[in-house]
Amino acid sequence: MVEWIRKLLIRTVLPLRKRKELFFSQFYFSIAFRISLNYLRLLIINSVVFCLLFVGVYLGISAYDSNTLQKQLVFSLENEEIYISDFEEKNPYYMQGLSLKILNEDTQQIVFNDIERSIEKRDSLLHKVFYGTIDDQKVLIVKDTQKIKIGDTGYVLYFQFDLSEECLLLYRLLPFVILLLAFFTACVIGYGKNGDEKVFLPIKNMSRLANRLTVNNLQSERINIAGTKNELKDLAETINKMLDRIELSYESQKQFVSDASHELRTPIAVIQGYVNMLDRWGKSDPEVLEESIEAIKNESKSMQELVEKLLFLSRHDKKTLKLEKHMFNMRVLVEDMLKETKMVTTNRIIETKALEDVMVYGDRQALKQAIRVFVDNAVKYTSDGDSIYISCENKDGDCVISVEDTGIGMTRKDIDNIFERFYRSDHVRDRKINGHGLGLSIAKLIILKHTGNIRVRSQYTKGSSFIVTLPRRR
Ligand code: ADP
Repeated sequence: MVEWIRKLLIRTVLPLRKRKELFFSQFYFSIAFRISLNYLRLLIINSVVFCLLFVGVYLGISAYDSNTLQKQLVFSLENEEIYISDFEEKNPYYMQGLSLKILNEDTQQIVFNDIERSIEKRDSLLHKVFYGTIDDQKVLIVKDTQKIKIGDTGYVLYFQFDLSEECLLLYRLLPFVILLLAFFTACVIGYGKNGDEKVFLPIKNMSRLANRLTVNNLQSERINIAGTKNELKDLAETINKMLDRIELSYESQKQFVSDASHELRTPIAVIQGYVNMLDRWGKSDPEVLEESIEAIKNESKSMQELVEKLLFLSRHDKKTLKLEKHMFNMRVLVEDMLKETKMVTTNRIIETKALEDVMVYGDRQALKQAIRVFVDNAVKYTSDGDSIYISCENKDGDCVISVEDTGIGMTRKDIDNIFERFYRSDHVRDRKINGHGLGLSIAKLIILKHTGNIRVRSQYTKGSSFIVTLPRRR
């Protein structure tokens, strides 16, 4: 049965609902309008319930009054305070809505009857309720066919409650009630619409802002979030924060492109200068030829290094950087690096403080590239006779690699910025030490990809130390 009803509902209600949705999809209803509509629906239901209650209570009270009258009358008749014969001329309760019929049960003689007199029956709604007309006015009459014996007198009473007076009053009141309700409804809709529009203002602002937004005004355009807070304002605030982040990332991209172009411009200009020199005098002067070839070689090597670094960063930003991780002994890697560095570096004292076996899970090539940045920097930023200490320690399974030097050191400002792309300290730039300011950014990316961390300690003119910790594989 339940299944059958379900199927029937699916067959009838679903297509109807779809048709309704299709029909309404042609129109544009703002959320504010829909909320107002919802309130209106509730208001109408409320009004109907209110009217029904009003009518019900009013009629109920009237019927209760008539019932009390009826009881009074029966009591009076039973105690012979009123004589039945008194009804021959006029029913004293008639004015209060009570019509009567008094019958002698033995003789079936009607002693008094004004029931028929009071209404002209037209239509029956329920068993006891009649529509009727009194003095050309349509009224409602509640009829009680109840029959009551009057003590031992042998007489019986029939009652009919006539609520025509009350109904007439209600009929007269109803237009006013409806008008009042209509007025209040209009007020509520008007006020509600205003309020809704205010509430939805952030959405309007958001859509206007989204229409206006371009990369050129990304800086200045934000949604106004002044005033009291609500969910939509929260959303607006979130969007503002998102725009802040987008702006920051856009600005840093712009900065990156400008810095990269700047870095590439210098070697290109140098190469161009030497090519011009070659063109003019190089063909005949072997010294110029030699110098130019050497310079072009150096500059193109530097350019290649820069382009490779840029490509690495771009692969990272595009999330296409892939690491091939496996277990390996870091001590072996550090030893290899020590050997290589000692081979190409002269006039520096390169020593190890500790070299311990420690297994690391990671990309060997990438980690070597990162550690090479620290070692190369230690060489670059020290002078002849300075010392460099490289160590690899096993601290409860964590791998700790440190590269210390007694070189030029860094200021506080430098320490705070060295991991920013293209950052180079002023004294490094002044001394014309080669570099692009990308090595440490790359090293940091690699270490972070291995869930490691880097600590920096440095003292200007005294030296620096970089300590990398790679946590053991859990
Ligand atoms: P580059 O060395 O090519 O300039 P890096 O990103 O490797 O780029 O380093 C950024 C900056 O950090 C350097 O320019 C330098 O100012 C500073 N720095 C890095 N390592 C050292 C060091 N061992 N001693 C002093 N300064 C350093």
